[in-house]
Amino acid sequence: ANAMLSGLPTTIFSVMSALAVEHDAINLGQGFPDTEGPADLVEAAAGALRDGRNQYPPLAGLPELQGAVARSNARFYGITVEPAREVVVTCGATEAITASLMALVNRGDEVVVFEPLYDTYLPVLRLLGAVVRTVRLAPPRWDLPRAELAAAFTPRTKAILLNTPMNPTGKVFTRDELEFIAGLVAKHDAYAVCDEVYEHLTFAPARHLPLMALPGMRERCIRIGSAGKSFSMTGWKVGYVTAPAPLAALVAKAHQLLTFTVAPNLQRAVAVGLDKDTAYFERLAESMRSARDGLAKGLLRAGFDVLPCDGSYFLIADITPLGFAGGDVAFCQQMTRRVGVAAIPVSAFYDDTGADIPGRYVRFAFCKKAGVISQAVQRLQGVR
Ligand code: PMP
Ligand code: GLN
Repeated sequence: ANAMLSGLPTTIFSVMSALAVEHDAINLGQGFPDTEGPADLVEAAAGALRDGRNQYPPLAGLPELQGAVARSNARFYGITVEPAREVVVTCGATEAITASLMALVNRGDEVVVFEPLYDTYLPVLRLLGAVVRTVRLAPPRWDLPRAELAAAFTPRTKAILLNTPMNPTGKVFTRDELEFIAGLVAKHDAYAVCDEVYEHLTFAPARHLPLMALPGMRERCIRIGSAGKSFSMTGWKVGYVTAPAPLAALVAKAHQLLTFTVAPNLQRAVAVGLDKDTAYFERLAESMRSARDGLAKGLLRAGFDVLPCDGSYFLIADITPLGFAGGDVAFCQQMTRRVGVAAIPVSAFYDDTGADIPGRYVRFAFCKKAGVISQAVQRLQGVR
């Protein structure tokens, strides 16, 4: 058996979702919306099935979706993209991340990552034989530790893997921070894999800026988006990669090995989604902001400390004021069983071979209906 995979635990998202079901808890763990996505996308997907869009689409994606990805890059970020050569459609951002790393990394290459990190990053990097250079961000503000980051770049650095807006911290990297990262990437002749699945979920005054939009970065970035997040359809698993043509060609090769193509009816529907008017994306962010505020208030009332959150589906709470001694994993298990609200222990987003992993933070998903948030908040008043 592959040693990496046989040692890999079941993802915390499935573990906590199963526990939530077992205890009939409100699931603020795994990040998925409890509303249906836009009806016109559902219609477009259903219509495409009936129109006989059911055989293998082109490897890199349906031209209509490649075009929509290019238009979206231009509209929101002023990035000019050649659809046929610079866009690859994947089975979710999950595949896009793996394919992008496969495209760049040779065994022994160094890759810089920020911790806390999304749960697929480290196992995939290790499977590829990358040497991982971890830079830890410190709560509660998760500011960029510039000197440490600069020291993590070496002559062997191939890439940095950057997630903004960031899961689980809710951090949105500022222009200033991105400029600093861009400087390091350029100086070390490296690349950046940019996981931007929450690009449309930021809360004013924070605003998403792709690293790719900065001077000198257009040819060095692989930018990843997800229909799951932008259209509240996490089960659809449609992701899209924007990259300079030579890198996109390599991502397409990896995609050829991993899945080869993506359901054509969903691709057609996502093309409709990406062409929606800007007001749609603003409403989506606004509804998330209002859910964040409702949850934050309720958590404060229940006795948690709440960390700042500028984007994503997630809010981190500090359990210290509650006086619980057992750590974040035990806290989440007990809260699910006794209070009926499930959340994710933030320690799950750290390299488990590392030292001094914080054990006092819990991640709550707020991508839920207002009624669900208020019911969860009510239950949480009994957490002390
Ligand atoms: N990256 C991050 C940071 C995420 O939170 C998620 C969430 N699911 C993904 C990637 C995967 O996205 P997808 O569902 O499109 O594969
Ligand atoms: N990205 C989602 C989260 O962070 C979960 C995705 C998954 O279950 N793998 O909650």
